[in-house]
Amino acid sequence: VEVEVAVDMTLTVEQERFIAGFRCYLDGLDLDLAAVRAEFESDPMQIVGVAREFVRRLGHDGWLGVGWPVEHGGGGRSAVEQWLFLEELAHRRLPSGNLTTSSLGPTLARVGTEQQRAAFLPGILAGDIDFAIGYSEPEAGTDLASLTTRAVRRGDSYLVNGQKIYTTGAHVATHLWLAARTGTREDRHRGLTLLIIPLPTPGVQITPIMTQGDERTNQVFLTDVEVPATALVGEENGGWSVITTQLNFERLFCYSDLSHQFELVLDWARASGAFELSPVRVSLAELAADLEVCRLFSMRAAWLLDHDRVPVAEASMNKIWYSELRQRLSVVALDIMGPLGQLRGGHPLAPLDGRMERAYRASTVIKFGAGTNEVQRDIIAQRGLGAGAGGRGKVR
Ligand SMILES: Cc1cc2nc3c(=O)[nH]c(=O)nc-3n(C[C@H](O)[C@H](O)[C@H](O)COP(=O)(O)OP(=O)(O)OC[C@H]3O[C@@H](n4cnc5c(N)ncnc54)[C@H](O)[C@@H]3O)c2cc1C
Repeated sequence: VEVEVAVDMTLTVEQERFIAGFRCYLDGLDLDLAAVRAEFESDPMQIVGVAREFVRRLGHDGWLGVGWPVEHGGGGRSAVEQWLFLEELAHRRLPSGNLTTSSLGPTLARVGTEQQRAAFLPGILAGDIDFAIGYSEPEAGTDLASLTTRAVRRGDSYLVNGQKIYTTGAHVATHLWLAARTGTREDRHRGLTLLIIPLPTPGVQITPIMTQGDERTNQVFLTDVEVPATALVGEENGGWSVITTQLNFERLFCYSDLSHQFELVLDWARASGAFELSPVRVSLAELAADLEVCRLFSMRAAWLLDHDRVPVAEASMNKIWYSELRQRLSVVALDIMGPLGQLRGGHPLAPLDGRMERAYRASTVIKFGAGTNEVQRDIIAQRGLGAGAGGRGKVR
């Protein structure tokens, strides 16, 4: 195994200037950011109401696509600058767009037709177009290549029938990014095709699923849904490479929202006197160190991108570390808060108005969202360490 440790984490003068400019912009905004934060925090999985308005404003002022290429309407900034932008918003608990801006847009920019780029990219950058991702099915999660939602080509259109599950945001999205089977079941991942379906469309029915963390996701039923052949992204039966491109973007940038949560817990520990206890201080110190590791993992992935590497295994490492730390942070918080920590928001005795109790319930999602951590460990072994392939891998 070849080990490279040549990543330079020092910000350049240009990067420092960029983030200072963005902070200045945020400080000068004539919007009620407290209201935006409250709306966003009530359910970070969907950006609606004033949170949506804020994202539109970012788009209008040219910030949403900071890392997108200039030819696609973006700011042409480096991946590190895009990451700094996301970190700043996450630190302030403000929405920064969502998977549409961070992963679907860049995927469409790479694999979409000229017509699709023109039809979607400006709307995504303006915050007006929002996709829900329809990959998972009741019998196809990790084993996505076994999905059965079928799309049949009929002249200039596709007819789609099937069912999706956990299609987060489908009830507020403008489009569904749908993986469907166009080949046979035996073709596995070689028989999948990616289609874009506008919402609402006749034949698409969306019903809610509430998670244990009080967040909403959905089931989507598709009955004789007809979409034009221009809805095809990439090649027919070539959907797998579109899906993996999108998922790699999704796993890459883990937001730094944990630092904000950590600060809340730290402030609570100081105010309540718990900080006087040395085991509490040790636990918090460990979390502080782990948070810094989380930050460095994200920044390393961004740095590698800027240096023309495709950080596949690194994206998986990033995602595992972030998702496990997210859960660890809420577990430690509830531990040090004692029995009162289990009280829900609204109860007069609930520490931090129950935020960490809710964070605890919601903390598991990222461990299996975007592919479970068990599978990410396989990816690290195969793509990072060359295990099972007989080849030499690289761990950077
Ligand atoms: C709140 C929430 C939001 C979601 N949002 C979306 C969304 O917007 N769009 C979307 O398409 N999907 C979404 N998902 C689905 C998510 O991606 C899947 O839940 C995930 O891929 C796991 O699939 P599964 O639930 O079918 O579990 P399974 O695949 O049945 O896995 C069950 C367990 O078995 C393990 N396992 C399975 N196969 C292997 C293997 N080969 N090696 C080792 N371990 C294995 C898994 O790691 C896991 O621990 C969401 C899920 C939730 C709960």
